[in-house]
Amino acid sequence: MTRGYAAMAPGSSMEPFIFSRREVGPHDVLIQIRYCGICHSDLHQVRDEWDESVFPLVPGHEIVGTVTQVGSEVNAFHVGDSAGVGCFVDSCRTCHSCRSGLEQYCEVHCVYTYNSTEKDGRTRTYGGYSDRIVVNEQYVLRMPDQLSPERAAPLLCAGITTYSPLRHWGVGHGHKLGVVGLGGLGHMAIKFGATFGAEVTVFSHSEHKRADAIRLGAAHFAGTSNPKTFKELERRFDFIIDTVSAEHGYGRYLELLKTDGTMILVGAPDRPAPLGAFPLIMRRRRLVGSLIGGIRETQEMLDFCAKHDVASDVEVIPIQHVDQAYERMLKGDVRYRFVIDLNSLQ
Ligand code: NAP
Ligand code: ZN
Ligand code: ZN
Repeated sequence: MTRGYAAMAPGSSMEPFIFSRREVGPHDVLIQIRYCGICHSDLHQVRDEWDESVFPLVPGHEIVGTVTQVGSEVNAFHVGDSAGVGCFVDSCRTCHSCRSGLEQYCEVHCVYTYNSTEKDGRTRTYGGYSDRIVVNEQYVLRMPDQLSPERAAPLLCAGITTYSPLRHWGVGHGHKLGVVGLGGLGHMAIKFGATFGAEVTVFSHSEHKRADAIRLGAAHFAGTSNPKTFKELERRFDFIIDTVSAEHGYGRYLELLKTDGTMILVGAPDRPAPLGAFPLIMRRRRLVGSLIGGIRETQEMLDFCAKHDVASDVEVIPIQHVDQAYERMLKGDVRYRFVIDLNSLQ
């Protein structure tokens, strides 16, 4: 018997929910969940903003806990180990993407941690707003001892989602990087961008986040409600990473890129934005997207964070406060990730 919190219908408040998980198979690990981060994707799906939610829905894909049981064939984990689970818990393992360590782009069936089905296409998956989870060992991350579990939980989504594209595009020394939106993903993009050696500018519609942006590692803060910002910073950036959760135009940010500059979309608003051709064609700019990261790269990111002392800035809450946390997240009132302490689920 697993205890958790679920949304029972689109947009309904979160409530206690009891369900069962599969028995621990030979290759499975049972994890007692200690902390789970709250991602804006949880909110999009609880409110069915992406039109693909199935209820009851137990969100949560930034999971850190302790291994309490291992299957007979498991070698990589032992009882008592600290373990992490991110946005997916299985994939086909044979397609080109899976064989390249890009399981998130599995061409057959990526099994997301919640609001998804297992490979049988029927069994529902339920996420980390719960006390335990059973996961195949190959999809479990090893949490380095140096990282505190509550500050490491958001690395499993917000961390890898920003680390992966910055690495893929080789962002580093000598580059000017713009980070649009200072929330969960945005604050990790600042930390990674600065640690990789880039000069980071934060674009935010929240003037009161200016001091935090600098404290987190940005060199500059640009208020997006001020139209002068977009004139003054034209053609300034090599890269821009856009983490905004709400619909907005991309064109005015593209104009801030140099020739051959790259804008990376990771924010996933529910509605499309119009896009003119000219900001792209006039300077051979690129507009690209990126989805989380594969298991191998997620482990690399965790080890990088342990080595370079990178972690999320968190506000730890009991699970009974999830609805209020969602409301505050919608207002941009979060510094900079809510993390649920699952001890509160008694
Ligand atoms: P978050 O913590 O709520 O941060 C989003 C930020 O966007 C806010 O802090 C705010 O920053 C800005 N923003 C929000 N509403 C806005 C508005 N109306 N106009 C302008 N700016 C606004 O969310 P998150 O957890 O970082 O997630 C961000 C987005 O990424 C979500 O859409 C989420 O689903 C998506 N996501 C994608 C992936 C992926 O793999 N691609 C993975 C995880 C999440 P300022 O106050 O600084 O303006
Ligand atoms: Zn997420
Ligand atoms: Zn695959």
